[in-house]
Amino acid sequence: MADAEITTLLKTGRKGQFYSRAGADNGETSMLLVAEPILGSAEKTALCDVIDSGWITMGDRVRSFERMFASVHGTDDAVAVNSCTAALHLILEALGIGRADEVLVPSLTFVATLNCVLYVGATPIFVDVASLDTPLMSIEDAEARVTPKTRAIILMHYAGYLPADEDWRSFAERHNLVIIEDAAHAVGVQGVGRYGDATAFSFYGNKNMTTAEGGMVLARDPKVLSQIRQMRGHGMTLDMRQRLKGRTPHYDVTMLGFNYRMDELRAAIGLVQLERLAIWNAKRKSLTDIYRQRLASLCPDVLVPFRAGAVTANHIMPVILPPDANRDEVVALLMQAGIQTAIHYSPVHRLSYYAKAFPDVRLPVTEAYAARELSLPLHPAMVSAQVDRVAAALADALTTL
Ligand SMILES: *Cc1c(COP(=O)(O)O)cnc(C)c1O
Repeated sequence: MADAEITTLLKTGRKGQFYSRAGADNGETSMLLVAEPILGSAEKTALCDVIDSGWITMGDRVRSFERMFASVHGTDDAVAVNSCTAALHLILEALGIGRADEVLVPSLTFVATLNCVLYVGATPIFVDVASLDTPLMSIEDAEARVTPKTRAIILMHYAGYLPADEDWRSFAERHNLVIIEDAAHAVGVQGVGRYGDATAFSFYGNKNMTTAEGGMVLARDPKVLSQIRQMRGHGMTLDMRQRLKGRTPHYDVTMLGFNYRMDELRAAIGLVQLERLAIWNAKRKSLTDIYRQRLASLCPDVLVPFRAGAVTANHIMPVILPPDANRDEVVALLMQAGIQTAIHYSPVHRLSYYAKAFPDVRLPVTEAYAARELSLPLHPAMVSAQVDRVAAALADALTTL
C-alpha cells in the first residue's frame, strides 16, 4: 500500500489528529508525541453497542476478541486479561514457577517484565543485551548466568524486533528451560508467540493497538491456556455467562485465582483496533524506513539499532546518540522544537527499588546503551514530513551542542 493511501485511511475524520489533544487543551497545539493511539467513530459506536446490549463484562465480545487475536497470530486460541502484567503473572503461575526458581530476564525493559517473577517469589537473574546495535538479550551472557536453579527465560521483543528463534530454542532445550515472551512491543508481527511456552501482549494506551488497558495470553499447551483462563476469573469453574447458559447457579473453585478479567467495553475497542493493526504496523514500518534514510544523511553520528528489513512491529524508534552528546540538552532542544522524546529504558537494575534488592548487578552493554538511547516519535498518525522535521531538529540539536 502506498504511503498516501495509508495516510488517507488513517484520516478518519479526526480534527488535529497529528497532535496531542491533551496538548491542544493547554495551548501546545503542535507537540509531536512519542506515541499516540488512534481512536475514532468506530470505537465510539462499538462502545455504545456494548452499553445498549446490557452485558458489560466477560461476554461474547471478549470471546470474539480472543479468537480473532489468536487467528491473527496463527494460533487456535487466546485468553484476554486486563493487562500485560496480569498476563505475565498468570503465565508464571500456570507454568509452576515459584520460590526455588531462577528466571533469566533483561534489564533493558519495563519493570513489569520482572515484577511478575517477584510476584511468584522466584529470583530474577538479569542478563545483558548483545550490543548497542542489537539491544536484545545476549545468548552468551544468558549462557554464563544459567545455574541448576534456572527454570525459565523471559524474552522481551525490544522495540518489536524478534530475536533469532533457533538459537533461543536450542538454548532452552540445552538447559531445560521454558521460554516466555513479553511481546508488549510486538503485537501483530509474524513469528511472535512461537518461541516457546507462552506469550504476553499489552493493549496499554501507547502500544501498537490499544484497549486503554488490557492484555492477552497465548500458550502452546492448551491445558496451560485453560488453566490461565480459569485463574483469570478467581479460579472459578464456571463464569457468570456459563452459569446462565448452563442454567445452573453452581460453581466450584479448584485453584487459587485472581481477578484479571477483561470487560466487554475493552474487547469491543480491541476488535475494532485489531482490524486495523496490519495497516498501522505497515505505516510504522514505512515511517521507520524514512527515519533510517533521513538519519543516515542528516545525523551520520547517530546509531540506529537493528537493520532495515528485520522482522519487527516497529513499536518505538530508538536511536543511540554520539558518546559526547548531552542527552538532557538534546531532549530540551527537541522539546523547544515541539518534539517529545522518551528513554527506553532506564535499566531496571538501576531503579531504586531493584538496586536495593539486587545491588551487585553489572550489565555493561545495557548500561552503555541506556545512557545514550533516545526514542523519537513514532506512531501511525504521523506523516513523512514530520519524520523529516524530527531528523532535522535532531541534527540541529547535535550541532548546537
Ligand atoms: C507496556 C509494557 C508492559 C506492561 O503492560 P501493561 O499492559 O501496562 O501491564 C510490559 N512489558 C513491556 C516490555 C511493556 O512495554
